[in-house]
Amino acid sequence: VLTGLPNRRLLMDRLGTVVARSQAEHTVSALLYLDIDKFKNVNDERGHATGDLLLEHAAARLQQAVCGSGLVARIGGDEFVVLLDSRDPCPDTAARHTLEAATLVREALAAPLDLKGKPYRIAASIGIALARPGGPGAHDLLREADTAMYHAKAAGRDGVRVFEDAMLADAQHALMLERDLAAALENGELAMHLQLQVNGRGLPVGAELLMRWRRADGSMERPDIFIPVAESSGLIVPLGHWALRQACAAWLALDRAGCPLPLSLNVSPIQFRQPDFVEQVHRIFTEMGVPPQQFIFEVTEGLLIEDIDQTITRMHQLANLGIRFSVDDFGTGYSNLAYLKKMPLYELKIDKSFMRDMPQDHNSTAIVQSILAMANHLDLRVVAEGVETAAQACYLGQHGSAYMQGFHYHRPMPLGDVIARLQTTAEAA
Ligand code: C2E
Ligand code: CA
Ligand code: CA
Repeated sequence: VLTGLPNRRLLMDRLGTVVARSQAEHTVSALLYLDIDKFKNVNDERGHATGDLLLEHAAARLQQAVCGSGLVARIGGDEFVVLLDSRDPCPDTAARHTLEAATLVREALAAPLDLKGKPYRIAASIGIALARPGGPGAHDLLREADTAMYHAKAAGRDGVRVFEDAMLADAQHALMLERDLAAALENGELAMHLQLQVNGRGLPVGAELLMRWRRADGSMERPDIFIPVAESSGLIVPLGHWALRQACAAWLALDRAGCPLPLSLNVSPIQFRQPDFVEQVHRIFTEMGVPPQQFIFEVTEGLLIEDIDQTITRMHQLANLGIRFSVDDFGTGYSNLAYLKKMPLYELKIDKSFMRDMPQDHNSTAIVQSILAMANHLDLRVVAEGVETAAQACYLGQHGSAYMQGFHYHRPMPLGDVIARLQTTAEAA
């Protein structure tokens, strides 16, 4: 109603016709699936009326860009579909023409806009699927375009992706992982390893808990693959509770062995945003009988972007329990620096991507130096992760980063190995 555009039902009708014709005529037509970037921010921060206005502008611009050569529909909050009835006889030229059309659409959306007195630029992520001879039916085609849009968004927004079969294989693989991961938690295939963090003199000052999944056949699954699957399926919530208990148990074991150490735990934004997160943390720490002051929650910049006010409130509730906070992968996201001051932060972790080309690469060293200077101003401690060489450690030492984590010092290890390592270090000292 808002945009005056056809809805999903009308779109599916037309899409059915287009698909049938492409099969009969052996031609190719295209479907663009658009999702407006950061629409939620506008809605949350500037109100629904402004959000609605943005959608109206987007709708008008899409129609202008397509100008009669296709159908524009709105199929959800900030999701639009453009159906181009191009009927191209050759798949390759069809793909090229569609990419050109997508570029025009993006340019039309991106023209400067006055949004209630403030300049704004609409950006969108676009997924493309082609209605082709031997291709799928209307519903699957729409799903292909949606999948491609999701890949465009994941690659950093304001981009375009054409659906490929490999994307389907990815989706199927994720589905299988999801099923296996649920069973892995039950079957005890998961474990927590610890990676020691050291000070400028190389002495252990803490450790980060890192999840490991060894399947029954002995093969390992990588956390940077299975954690995102756990996040998108919601499995991260039970997994996160399990991780919290493991962290408490590890702390108790270290304490009993005579080498107590503060522990850092990765907390997913999905878990952090559970309404009962604070109570759960409190309950688990009380049950396990561990001091919350000994734990640092690592959160990523992603958490610090959306629902900022709620995030800050919750961080203070946890900080009141004694828990400290670290911003993980710092420098890779889009933190609002003004908000950093309002958060009860203890530490920044410099992302390992900046460490990789250090100290030769000028850009990386410039970023590392600015982070160090900023942390100093904000009175935050810094941990550099991914320290792999003596040259990197030396550079950091000279520029004031006191704490380091990386293969140059210690690899992630099972708890027993960490305790043995700590005990020999203590004896040597
Ligand atoms: P992260 O939090 O950035 O963890 C640091 C990653 O860097 C770990 O990868 C660690 O093994 C690796 N690393 C440590 N030192 C070096 C080094 O010198 N060089 C290089 N190249 N890498 C180094 P890992 O264990 O594969 O974990 C990947 C990611 O998975 C983590 O990145 C974190 O985002 C996520 N993750 C792991 N465990 C958990 C968990 O228990 N909960 C949650 N929510 N996420 C987890
Ligand atoms: Ca981390
Ligand atoms: Ca990190």
